[in-house]
Amino acid sequence: MNRSAMLDQLADSSTEWDVIVIGGGATGLGIAVDSATRGLKTLLLEQADFSEGTSSRSTKLIHGGVRYLRGGEVGLVRESLRERGRLLHNAPNLVRKLSFVVPAYRWYERIFYGTGLVLYDFLAGKLGIESTGHLAKSKTLEKIPNLNPEGLRGGTLYWDGQFDDARLSVALARTAAANGAAILNHVRVTGLQKNGAGKVNGIEAKDLQSGKSYSATGKIVINATGVFTDSVRKMDEPKAENVIAPSQGIHIVLDAEFLGGETAIMIPNTDDGRVLFAIPWYGKLVLGTTDTADVPVELNPRPLEEEIDYLIEHAGRYLVKAPKREDVRATFAGLRPLVRPPAPKTEDGETEKKETSKISRSHSLFVSKSGLLTIAGGKWTTYRQMAEDAVDKAIKLAKLNPEQSCSTKDLTLLDREESEIKELMESDPSLLEKLASGLPWRMADVVYAVRNEMAQTLVDVLARRTRVLFLDETAARKCAHPVAQLMARELGKNETWIAEQLKLMREVEGL
Ligand SMILES: Cc1cc2nc3c(=O)[nH]c(=O)nc-3n(C[C@H](O)[C@H](O)[C@H](O)COP(=O)(O)OP(=O)(O)OC[C@H]3O[C@@H](n4cnc5c(N)ncnc54)[C@H](O)[C@@H]3O)c2cc1C
Repeated sequence: MNRSAMLDQLADSSTEWDVIVIGGGATGLGIAVDSATRGLKTLLLEQADFSEGTSSRSTKLIHGGVRYLRGGEVGLVRESLRERGRLLHNAPNLVRKLSFVVPAYRWYERIFYGTGLVLYDFLAGKLGIESTGHLAKSKTLEKIPNLNPEGLRGGTLYWDGQFDDARLSVALARTAAANGAAILNHVRVTGLQKNGAGKVNGIEAKDLQSGKSYSATGKIVINATGVFTDSVRKMDEPKAENVIAPSQGIHIVLDAEFLGGETAIMIPNTDDGRVLFAIPWYGKLVLGTTDTADVPVELNPRPLEEEIDYLIEHAGRYLVKAPKREDVRATFAGLRPLVRPPAPKTEDGETEKKETSKISRSHSLFVSKSGLLTIAGGKWTTYRQMAEDAVDKAIKLAKLNPEQSCSTKDLTLLDREESEIKELMESDPSLLEKLASGLPWRMADVVYAVRNEMAQTLVDVLARRTRVLFLDETAARKCAHPVAQLMARELGKNETWIAEQLKLMREVEGL
């Protein structure tokens, strides 16, 4: 992916795009892949880095969401399971199957969760992974050696998918670009253009790296900006009603010994009715998540101390070796772009608020009077279906003429070229050096990310092309300077740039 060539395409004012997508998270990138593979001339603009919003901060599960069965959302679970199966097939290097144990401490839990998970398997149909099964206490402890044995009656074993969300985002960007789309990170849409009839027919944008302004015309503009949805809707209609109810979820990262095995834990119902996951990822343990409503909308939300305490405290109830605050290697927070349900009135006429954990994770499409198409809500797992629905709607609204119908159900997603990284290391052995001990990335990954994956900033590399910042903040701080120096060499930048990048990393990630 060549950023300057894409900028040249954006600068060409003679181009009329079929589809302009605002937002380069899972939703926007999925739309760009769908639109480009139908032969539509597609432009995508992301104000920060690909997936820098919510899409790099998920629990990293490609899952049906077994807990939504409790809320009766069978349709959503079935759709998610179908998409899970497709992703495992279309991105075999990027999504892997992972086993989970639901531990049972009360007599009825094995029957209750076991029945729910058998239904989960049934709903997956032929796209299922492996069968759910009951585990005796000894087998449960064999799978999760650090699980608290006191009062344990056994467990239920089931399967779901796991992935690296930021890496899948880059794969989507690469796939869209390979199919002819122009995909740009660090370009913010600052306004919408309208024609004489008041219909949206383009965007104004600014490259935040160079400060240069651009404008582009398109037959339809799709707003896929996650928790920023309402700010873009207000560019169109300043009085547009808010449709997003953001909800913050955080994760903490611990050393893998706190789990003790390769099987994840799922606690479907904590004291306050939440779901808790403990998941092995890149040799660490990711613990999450929380659900905090009424949070400000920002690009880099930080975990609240009480959310961190909540996770540490709840994990301690289930693990023999309970984590303490000083065991936390890293934390990360994300904002769920939930679609606000129509609020029912209470008896005294007040508007009743629904807890964000109870708001549906399904997606919705909105079309404004001036033709701005907005897609909001959903999950990483369902990004492909969301994209298909959005592009179908865009074709109808803008009377587009695609060359072919949607083909993403079995489209292989393009991952990075491992052989090119190997070649880099062979040509320069200094690139073999690891960014952090115990983590897989090397200096060659930094060079590859700059040359092929549009990494523009130090944080792009440390947080999303590699995941060092998400996994071990101290290790990220340690390698930040040499990584910035290497990036500066690749990008032709000077010492001032390096100092700025280090400062930005401290500010943005709160280090
Ligand atoms: C804590 C947590 C855990 C989760 N875990 C899972 C999980 O395990 N599995 C799962 O399936 N789902 C999960 N989800 C849900 C999933 O992560 C989200 O539904 C999904 O990432 C949303 O993607 P998006 O593209 O809609 O939003 P975002 O990823 O936020 O993308 C929107 C993008 O729009 C950009 N943007 C905004 N304004 C502009 C502008 N003016 N110009 C250009 N760009 C702009 C933003 O910078 C942002 O990058 C989780 C969510 C959270 C918060």
